[in-house]
Amino acid sequence: MKLSDVSLSHHYASLGDAFGTPVSPTPFAHPKLIHVNPAVLEQLGIDPAEADNPAWAEIGAGAKLLPGSRPFAMKYTGHQFGVYNPELGDGRALLLGEVQNGEHSWELHLKGAGKTPYSRFGDGRAVLRSTIREYLAGEALHGLGIRTTRALCIVGSDEPVTRERIESGAMLIRVAESHVRFGHFEYFFYTRQLEALQKLIGYVCERFLPEAKSLPVAEQAEALLHFTVARTAELVAAWQAVGFAHGVLNTDNMSIIGDTFDFGPYGFLDDYEPEFICNHSDHTGRYAFEQQPGVALWNLNALAHSLSAFVSAETLKDCLEEFQPRLVDAYAAQMRAKLGLEQKEDGDQQLCADLLQLLADARADYTLFFRALAHYRGERPAAALQELIPEAQHDALEAWLHHYDQRLARDGGDSRSRNRAMLAANPKFILRNYLAQRVIEAAEDGDYRPLRTLFTLLQSPFDEHPEHETWAAAPPESGKHMPISCSS
Ligand code: AMP
Ligand code: MG
Ligand code: MG
Repeated sequence: MKLSDVSLSHHYASLGDAFGTPVSPTPFAHPKLIHVNPAVLEQLGIDPAEADNPAWAEIGAGAKLLPGSRPFAMKYTGHQFGVYNPELGDGRALLLGEVQNGEHSWELHLKGAGKTPYSRFGDGRAVLRSTIREYLAGEALHGLGIRTTRALCIVGSDEPVTRERIESGAMLIRVAESHVRFGHFEYFFYTRQLEALQKLIGYVCERFLPEAKSLPVAEQAEALLHFTVARTAELVAAWQAVGFAHGVLNTDNMSIIGDTFDFGPYGFLDDYEPEFICNHSDHTGRYAFEQQPGVALWNLNALAHSLSAFVSAETLKDCLEEFQPRLVDAYAAQMRAKLGLEQKEDGDQQLCADLLQLLADARADYTLFFRALAHYRGERPAAALQELIPEAQHDALEAWLHHYDQRLARDGGDSRSRNRAMLAANPKFILRNYLAQRVIEAAEDGDYRPLRTLFTLLQSPFDEHPEHETWAAAPPESGKHMPISCSS
């Protein structure tokens, strides 16, 4: 369809007053269109050529509403760094409505759209820096085959926004099948609005678990928890396998459908450091890379607790117990693919753990190492791998490769097709923080070309793109531990 044919429906806003507040966006005065995502247009069933339509500037700046829009600030609460905060909600973003495309219904959420009743001390705005980070991250994870929200467009402005320094404001239209967070359930549970809680459970089931639609609420809630546990386990397994740290895994940043959700101070690992903390404000490392599986389970517990209004503790516990085996299975499958193994073997977990220990000891670049391994054919010396590892660990590398060679021999298959499969499982391009920073600095100077280049590479991160080698390079030392804060 053409942009002029788009019309939104609005199921969430129709749930009632208990669910949030209608709020009009506070538009930017002089919006400038920075980027429109043709791939997301396609996802919405809109002609990708509409990416060139200048109307997106006004739409993306909240100055013009698509027909049928009913801008709505959703109320939710949640646990932030383990502490319950009753004051949350859409403080700077508005649900505009949904676009139906075949089976799928996609919500549009305008971020940076001004103050709402849930803004607390905030200004309701987002800055260009964080908007670009969210825009790129959604595309990067999607390109890697990981569930995530994406974004339709970025609009900039000359409106100053004060953070640690004065920055320019920007807005982004986030697209997801649902913006319901764990925190939505916590809100209704802790405020004892059980009728609304029941309505919310029914609403999510109707959209994502049609088989549970007509069941009594206790069974709906149980089905929902099963679903979210499974989706979350698969999601976290994918993050761990690719080396992604979310940075702020509060329960209000956890999507009920298991999307990567709400991008702030995230990071993709450069060197393999399990204890990596990407969020500058996370002093205790609660959300460190290796903590993510445990934290996700903690968050699922919080979700389960809010369903205890309808489901017995024993049933909730049974659901939660599915998390770990599901995560371990999904992670093992991903790591087998990264290692080019087709069959399962008992010793695989150890083989994988030994490699990760080696990479951690060597502080080797995670992405570069696996990409180099995807070209490995048993050669000696294994020069391309040695190059990525300090000399002190070369013996350990040799010992590991010896086991790996034996394992590959048992797996069978020829090295050529294994290499091909591994190149499709080990990305060449990831969204490193120093690359994001380079793109942001150029954009702040009005040059959006690096943004466009990186954006395109992240959409097909497994391809070689030989003309763009520099975007696949290891970061300089100064680019490795860039302090990324929450203030966005
Ligand atoms: P976040 O850290 O982005 O997950 O946001 C946590 C809470 O703070 C949510 O309720 C947000 O809506 C709110 N919030 C974050 N930034 C702002 C802002 N600049 N203005 C108003 N509310 C905000
Ligand atoms: Mg959030
Ligand atoms: Mg946020």
